[in-house]
Amino acid sequence: MSIKLPALPYTMDALEPYISAKTMEFHYGKHHQGYVDNLNNLIKGTRYESMDTEEIIRLTVANPETASIFNNAAQVWNHSFFWQSMRRDGGGEPAAELKTKIERDFGSVENFKKEFKAAAVSQFGSGWAWLVEDKGTLRVVKTANADTPIAHGLKPILTVDVWEHAYYLDYQNQRAAFIDAYLNHLINW
Ligand code: MN
Repeated sequence: MSIKLPALPYTMDALEPYISAKTMEFHYGKHHQGYVDNLNNLIKGTRYESMDTEEIIRLTVANPETASIFNNAAQVWNHSFFWQSMRRDGGGEPAAELKTKIERDFGSVENFKKEFKAAAVSQFGSGWAWLVEDKGTLRVVKTANADTPIAHGLKPILTVDVWEHAYYLDYQNQRAAFIDAYLNHLINW
């Protein structure tokens, strides 16, 4: 068994004008594919070769000697989850059940968006912002580099990639504008 790049849930140009086809061609076609290829090379002939990415992530997170395997496995998983977190004509209001939970734990959808944007904008350097469920409560968290909530017992609900490769072709250094586009036009509730 080897790790496969999952099919995108939409076409390369589906998220335009908020994320260009050119960004998707690089981000999905080069970066995500690159993590898949690196991971397959790293696990070849090891005990991890027959495992899926979630299992590899859980078994490598605590061991500095497997940091490269963890980083690539987590990036494979994070990107697959990120593509699912967006859709064409996204944004708008959350589905009823999620909206009720967001209002319970953040006060309002607007407050959730503010907290999520603040986390995404303030992540220093590369990483991710997440909406997660933590023992039944919704929380916003950010992770650095490849780190992922599934390595820490949290259940991801939505994510946005804030590595520069996610937005630089379309937004240059304007990470906040990219996060606004994600929240208002792309998010797949
Ligand atoms: Mn990325």
